Amino acid sequence: MKIALFGPPGAGKGTQAAFITERLSIPQISTGDLLRSEVKKASILGQEAKGYMDRGELVPDELVLSMMGSRLASEDCASGYILDGYPRSLSQAKALDELISLDLVIVIDVEGSSLIDRITGRRMCRCGATYHLRFAPPNVNGLCDRCGQELYQRDDDKEETIRSRLKVYREQTMPIIDHYSKKGILRTIDGNRGIDRIKDSILEAVMKAGGV
Ligand code: ADP
Ligand code: AMP
Repeated sequence: MKIALFGPPGAGKGTQAAFITERLSIPQISTGDLLRSEVKKASILGQEAKGYMDRGELVPDELVLSMMGSRLASEDCASGYILDGYPRSLSQAKALDELISLDLVIVIDVEGSSLIDRITGRRMCRCGATYHLRFAPPNVNGLCDRCGQELYQRDDDKEETIRSRLKVYREQTMPIIDHYSKKGILRTIDGNRGIDRIKDSILEAVMKAGGV
């Protein structure tokens, strides 16, 4: 099954994608994670993408499209995947339509006022796990439950960058919702609830679409 998860930064896409990955045994493909790993490697792509990411802007399509084209052609994508943070603009959605047909698009809808709190409290582990200082803390302060490594805060999870990312979401990403609504594959989930209740609603939507 091919699923895309949508929602503003901090909506809980990464958190929920991890559950779906486990339940359906399909990979989670996060363009944000892929780009951060290129930045860390200081590859040509990473060097070109870094400035845009630091400013909270979208990385230009030509960079993202070729990165995603090769990722989606990988062997582990044969029985489906969950896209997290892609597509992120109408032009990316149209480019994706040329490549594949999504089965389900889930929007996690969250009140703007909660997002800053969620993002400023987010802490990441290099193994991919995500925590929150108040809402989803690790068992041992500052260390990952899964692998014991030290947690860190993303460079772009600072308040001034968050405001620019939220603006980019409203102006460039939200128009995609209408694009998928017209195709009849869009489901909107109330994201103003606890992590487990959102998970249940998402799994129900996946089940209805024939995925579990
Ligand atoms: P996204 O991938 O959409 O940017 P994340 O999954 O990283 O969002 O979640 C952002 C932050 O909010 C993380 O610190 C996460 O632990 C926390 N979080 C996720 N879902 C919820 C929720 N339903 N309630 C409170 N905090 C949440
Ligand atoms: P995320 O991890 O999804 O919050 O993304 C972090 C940053 O990576 C964004 O603010 C963008 O700069 C960049 N990014 C992630 N996904 C995309 C995408 N599909 N298109 C363009 N830029 C992206």
